[in-house]
Amino acid sequence: MERLLNGYHRFRKEQWSERRRQFESLADLGQQPRAMVVSCADSRVDPGMIFDAGPGELFVVRNVANLVPPYAPDSAYHGTSAALEFGVRVLQVRHLLVMGHGLCGGIRALLEGTPPEASDYIGRWIGIAEPAKARALACDDGTERQLCCEQETVKLSLENLRTFPWIAERVADGRLQLHGAHFDIRSGQLSLLRDDGGFRVVPAE
Ligand SMILES: [Zn+2]
Repeated sequence: MERLLNGYHRFRKEQWSERRRQFESLADLGQQPRAMVVSCADSRVDPGMIFDAGPGELFVVRNVANLVPPYAPDSAYHGTSAALEFGVRVLQVRHLLVMGHGLCGGIRALLEGTPPEASDYIGRWIGIAEPAKARALACDDGTERQLCCEQETVKLSLENLRTFPWIAERVADGRLQLHGAHFDIRSGQLSLLRDDGGFRVVPAE
């Protein structure tokens, strides 16, 4: 906690003075982010840092393994779907990016089994990505399989996004664009999903 408070003190001292007007304007006018990101809760993958985005720029929802469940307006608690509804229908973001990442523990749990001490929720949640696992098992060795499964999970989340009628409708009429990406923690490189189904590294400049 001390570390958190030290960080807060640095924020007040260094960033607040610089960004005060920006925050005040966002408080008065409300947020109008143009892009939404679905990414993993992993502490090493921070969309704000990767895209060098300031306050008000990105609407972000993070969960285990950057998963989007299929559209299912039932009585269960749907945190990710609720964030999608707010971002797409209320804030009317123009771009929606699903970002997977390397060395994802959620994907490892999908491939190798959920840790026994985390059996209440993770197994069922990660089960959303079973179709991606089935596709990834075709990959040869373990390292390739992990990367392949991370990438297939991004594609699956994009497929599931299209099951939300208000997303499919906006994609069809051009109000919303969907994108897939994968961030390599070790190299810091971002790859984008292309139309041919492959991921290509984005040039650094
Ligand atoms: Zn992850």
